Amino acid sequence: MNTDKINIAVDGFSSCGKSTIAKGLAAKVGYIYIDSGAMYRALALFAIKNGWMTEDYINEDELIRHISDIKIEFKPNDDGTQDTYLNGENVESEIRSLQVANGASRISTLGFVREELVRQQRAMGEQKGVVMDGRDIGTVVFPDAELKIFLTASPEVRAKRRFLELQSKDIDTTYEDTLANVTERDYRDTTRKESPLRKAEDALELDNSYITIDEQLQWAVDMFNKITKRE
Ligand code: C5P
Repeated sequence: MNTDKINIAVDGFSSCGKSTIAKGLAAKVGYIYIDSGAMYRALALFAIKNGWMTEDYINEDELIRHISDIKIEFKPNDDGTQDTYLNGENVESEIRSLQVANGASRISTLGFVREELVRQQRAMGEQKGVVMDGRDIGTVVFPDAELKIFLTASPEVRAKRRFLELQSKDIDTTYEDTLANVTERDYRDTTRKESPLRKAEDALELDNSYITIDEQLQWAVDMFNKITKRE
């Protein structure tokens, strides 16, 4: 049995269940889960709170000046979930709003933002044993990741899932707004100049529109076992 740890990249469009599969796989194989989107969201929240980002403007000068002031951490809870902390403050629920999601999507198009967050993400994966989900993990953050998964699902299926999730958290929105948000973020993610969302050539693609979470997880564990020869 090979016990060397590997890094696992899970990329894909917004709301296609990346975190569910990445978290589940990390728990099954005893790896650390890192939500790279939460880092872009935390940075967006930081910019919004400081007045450096409005609906139609980002104060890039202030952001460049203060980007190294932010410390993003993930801390586990007793129930197996984890929360995102920004400079010591738990911001987990605040960063899940549609406003912050949109801000993250905009802020993530800036080259200096990506450079700084990619630097932090690479440092988190230095010791290996990490499952990280995002948009550019297999292409930019860990191009040498031993296992790369690329998830897809139709925009309508993804919007429905995200809408139900937001509803369950009592976040006030409609299906139509959620679908518009998903479509807008897809467009920005795939057309931005800096690290656009694309499938790495060596990534394994899984369309999860019509399969269960258990089926996806089993598939991911099978792929992991095959690569690490643990079976
Ligand atoms: O995955 P999540 O929806 O939380 O990500 C929030 C936003 O951050 C996305 O809309 C995407 O634009 C951006 N992002 C990114 N690169 C990543 C992770 C997220 O550009 N690795």
